Amino acid sequence: MERIRVGIVGVGKIANDQHIRVLRASAAFELEASASRHAKVDGIANYSTLEAMLDAHPALDAIVICTPPQAHYNAARLALQRGKHVFLEKPPCETTTQLDELTRQARRANLTLFQTWHAQHAASVEVMELRLKPLVVRGGRIIWKEDVRQWHPGQSWIWQAGGFGVFDPGINAISILTKVVPEPVFAKTADLFFPTNCESPIAANVTFVTATGAMIDAAFDFRYAGVPTWDIDIGTESTTLHLTDQGSTLIVDGERVAAGASDVEYPSLYRRFEELIRQRKSDVDRRPFQLVADIFLIANRSKVEPFEE
Ligand code: NAP
Repeated sequence: MERIRVGIVGVGKIANDQHIRVLRASAAFELEASASRHAKVDGIANYSTLEAMLDAHPALDAIVICTPPQAHYNAARLALQRGKHVFLEKPPCETTTQLDELTRQARRANLTLFQTWHAQHAASVEVMELRLKPLVVRGGRIIWKEDVRQWHPGQSWIWQAGGFGVFDPGINAISILTKVVPEPVFAKTADLFFPTNCESPIAANVTFVTATGAMIDAAFDFRYAGVPTWDIDIGTESTTLHLTDQGSTLIVDGERVAAGASDVEYPSLYRRFEELIRQRKSDVDRRPFQLVADIFLIANRSKVEPFEE
């Protein structure tokens, strides 16, 4: 079977940490070109814009979009217009209507739109989903705290409108929540904390409620200088599940039942992308994005001290 020729857009942290390495190790994909205003990738053709890359490489099959979310919609729209399948990093767009329009555009053009949630591919998330499937959730807690200076150094886009602030990592937890809880989840209350010099929140306390009334409290914080905490606890009538290390490890009633490496997510995403392209299908799960949008709709907002890098 012919390899899928790929161009990558936005060569920054995640492109370098994951995409380029995984694409180069894959037998199914061939990384042919990159488009980034400043950065370049060794050994392939580099362009400063997506347009230039598309013009110079008309035979590309797919475009991988790794820019900040504020640039996702225009890049994905252009790639689809030019007949390319699209791998879209999280968070998908600036607004939910942009994502809906991309979904329609891909459908009309019979192209694959893979709108990804990498955290859903963490090693123990599917095990948790299967364990919870026959059960009724009674309550839960999410703690998602990390040091923004360590994990997002110099990423000023995070603090601008459409950059999601603490929900850039927080939406990863929410993407796990919507996958593992076997019923609809709603945002009930939210308190957002905005530094006086930023357009997006640095911390948030949120209460989610399931369709059957179980409360799940969540604390998201970018100001956490200690060892990061990326934990989700879910309780049912009979059992307690503790998902830790961003979905890598699952502990059920005190016993470790699943564990895996943190680098399984992107190989899994690319296996799924290949499958979708071969089948000419899309995969768009808008629930985590809608929940973050809902949080912004209902939130109480407070000002906190300015953020200095
Ligand atoms: P990043 O390090 O800032 O890299 C993004 C690159 O996109 C920049 O280096 C920049 O390269 C390019 N770019 C294009 N338009 C831009 C704009 N308007 N503003 C700023 N940069 C622009 O960010 P990242 O951490 O790789 O994150 C990119 C996306 O991947 C985000 O949606 C993020 O949520 C997601 N993601 C990140 C991680 C992670 O661990 N960092 C994990 C999973 C997903 P040029 O200057 O060369 O154009």
